[in-house]
Amino acid sequence: MSESVRLPVLSVKSLSVAFGFDKNGTPRDGIPPLQVTDKVSFDIYPGEFFALVGESGCGKSVTAMGILRLLPQPSARIVDGSVLYRSGAAEGNDASLDLAKIPLADLQKIRGSEIACIFQEPMQALNPVVTIKKQLLEVFRFCAKKSSSATDEKSCLAAIREMLALAGFKDIDRVLDAYPHELSGGMLQRVCIVMALLPKPKIIIADEPTTALDVTVQAQVLAVLKDMASRTGTAVLLITHNMGIVSQYADRVAVMYAGRIVETGPVRNVIDSPMHPYTQGLLAAIPESHGDMRTMKSIPGSVPHPRDFALGCRFADRCEKCVNGNAELQAMCRSAQVPPRVFADNSTQHETNCFALVE
Ligand code: SF4
Repeated sequence: MSESVRLPVLSVKSLSVAFGFDKNGTPRDGIPPLQVTDKVSFDIYPGEFFALVGESGCGKSVTAMGILRLLPQPSARIVDGSVLYRSGAAEGNDASLDLAKIPLADLQKIRGSEIACIFQEPMQALNPVVTIKKQLLEVFRFCAKKSSSATDEKSCLAAIREMLALAGFKDIDRVLDAYPHELSGGMLQRVCIVMALLPKPKIIIADEPTTALDVTVQAQVLAVLKDMASRTGTAVLLITHNMGIVSQYADRVAVMYAGRIVETGPVRNVIDSPMHPYTQGLLAAIPESHGDMRTMKSIPGSVPHPRDFALGCRFADRCEKCVNGNAELQAMCRSAQVPPRVFADNSTQHETNCFALVE
C-alpha cells in the first residue's frame, strides 16, 4: 500500500517583492524598483503553527501581505515567484491555486473566509461604534450564508458564545454587549481571533498579534490562538521578531534576514542546534529571567536598507564568523554568489545558507 504524502496547504515559492512602481506597473520616475524580498520559499502544512521570525525590516510583513496581495498600491508588486494554496491539502487533494496570479475577484473570495488575518492593533480591525455582538454576528451570518447553515440570531449566537468560551471569556454577555473601547487590548485580540476563526479558515496569518500587548497578556493570547487553531485544524503563519515566542508556540520556523530566508526547520532542531550565525545571534539575545542585563548579548549593527543590500551574504557586516574568519571565507561571504543551501538533517528539512558550513 502506498504511503499517503503530506501536502502543504500553502507553498510560497521564490517570492520576490519590489517597491517603486507607478499605477501603470512601470518604475516610478524611471528609478529602478527596490527589491525588498528575494526568492522567499517555505511550506505550511494543515494545522501547523509556522513562524516567520527576524528583526524589523527583514521583509516578514511584506512576505505575509504578499501572500494575499495586500501590498501597498501602486508602489509594491510581486516581481517573481508563486503562492500555491491547496484548499483540500488535509484531504490529500493536490489541486492548487496560485494566489499571486489568480484574478482579484477570485482572491477576494478566499481572503477572510479561507485565509484570515489578525493584525497587531486589534482596535484598528474592529469598528469602534458597533458592539462586539453585532460585529461577530455580521461575520458569522456572512459565513453561514456561504455554507447554507442556519442564520437565525439564536443559532448564530449559540455558535459565537461557544467560540468566545473557547477563547477563555467568562462573562460572555458583557463582552457581546461591549463596544471595542470598553475592552482591554488582550480581550480585543481574543475577539479578533474568534472573528478570524468563525469562517473556519484553512490558514490564519497573524502579523505580530501580541506586540502591542503587555507581556503577561501576550502569553494568554498566543495560547488561545494555538489552542483554537489546533481544535479547528487551521494552520497559523505567525510573523514575529521574538524568538522566545517561537520556541514556545511554533512547530516549524523560517528565519528571515534582509529579505531572504536564512534558516528553516522544526523549531526544536533550530532552537537546539541553530546553524546560521544570524539565528545563533537571535537566540543569544533572548533575555533570561534571572540573567544579568549588563551581559545581555545583542547582534552588532542593524538590518541594512534594501538599497544597501550587499552582494553575497547580506549578514556579512554583522557576522562574527565572517569578520573574524580567514581571508578565503571573507572573500566567499562577500562574493556575488548567494551562500549555498546546507542540510543539518535532510529528514526533518532543517536547512540553512552559509559558506562557513560548507565542508
Ligand atoms: S555566509 Fe559568511 S557572512 Fe554569511 S552567515 Fe555564513 S559566515 Fe556569516
